[in-house]
Amino acid sequence: MWDEGVAGYNFGPSHPMDPIRLTLTMRLVEAFGLDERVDVVAARPAGDSTLGLVHRTPYLDAVRHASAHPWEADQRLGLGTPDTPAFHGMHEVSALIAGQSVAGADDIWLDEVRHAVNFAGGLHHAMPGAASGFCVYNDAALAIARLLELGAERVAYIDTDVHHGDGVQDTFWDDPRVLTISLHEHPRTLFPGTGLPEETGGEEAPGGAVNIPLPAGTSDAGWLRALHSVVPELLAAFRPQAIVSQHGADAHIEDPLAHLALSLDAQRLAAEACHSWAHEHADGRWLALGGGGYAVIDVVPRLWTHLVGIAAHAPVEPTAPVPEAWRAAVYALTRQHGPRRMTDGGEPGWRDWANGYDPADAVDQAILATRHAVYPLHGLLP
Ligand SMILES: [Zn+2]
Ligand SMILES: [Zn+2]
Repeated sequence: MWDEGVAGYNFGPSHPMDPIRLTLTMRLVEAFGLDERVDVVAARPAGDSTLGLVHRTPYLDAVRHASAHPWEADQRLGLGTPDTPAFHGMHEVSALIAGQSVAGADDIWLDEVRHAVNFAGGLHHAMPGAASGFCVYNDAALAIARLLELGAERVAYIDTDVHHGDGVQDTFWDDPRVLTISLHEHPRTLFPGTGLPEETGGEEAPGGAVNIPLPAGTSDAGWLRALHSVVPELLAAFRPQAIVSQHGADAHIEDPLAHLALSLDAQRLAAEACHSWAHEHADGRWLALGGGGYAVIDVVPRLWTHLVGIAAHAPVEPTAPVPEAWRAAVYALTRQHGPRRMTDGGEPGWRDWANGYDPADAVDQAILATRHAVYPLHGLLP
């Protein structure tokens, strides 16, 4: 899913979410010829009835008003704040991004395609009634809501952004049809301050929310171990009919806003894992989204290009050199030098949980806490 207009999602020159990260990603996708391997489709913006699947009418009215009169934005609804400044056209471009994710949901459910990618999406902090954390409309929640509207009975959401996927969790807190799983930096050191293992879903959906908060500084082996020690068993128990995954790039060690220490190699492996889980557990139905990521030249374009390649069944080699034409374009646009290789050159491995754990290890403690909190609710032994 791609419309050049998504780059209009622009909070201004001093904001970390510089939309150049989206255009540079698309140019890198093109530099590898991946746009020839997939259908590149621009969907229409999400309309009011679609946005209303998740968002409340007073909030939609407030976004529309702020979009026309940014200086009158309602800060009580998270609009016009330092994190989520109001700007002219903010409703239109936010609806455009949401429209791409919702159309991707349509296409995978109606078997138009097996997989769909909207790397401009993944705006997982937006709440039903408020903007939050750079996110206006929650395209991830909207895509899931569309799948439910089309008749899906079980949808799994996997969020590997460094921040807790709080908006998606809140939207489906009491909905047993949606399993949200978020792997993130511990809320004691990072926005939004939620995402503890004890958050396991509402009364109507026990076990419907899964949270794996990892200590600051966690690197490849621990992060991959956590992902693989929790997600596959839950997917096998939940039996989703579709998987929506969020691939925020901000868990990378070079990201300026957070404190995990991943390499691109580990992040690429997580994208591969989501792809294979979709085939294994959800009949191949997979909608992959972007998300955060503030190393806008060095990290974001490479990760999401890998994501597109994986979804296209034409994966880019981890060791591939970055095309010189793209590096020249980066330099022309930013006066900065882009990366030379498509990953960081690591070969991360991780220990299998089935081989035991170390009760003194902080990552293992986090995994254990999550398994103890939710596994029994899914009929599994922690
Ligand atoms: Zn994030
Ligand atoms: Zn596939």
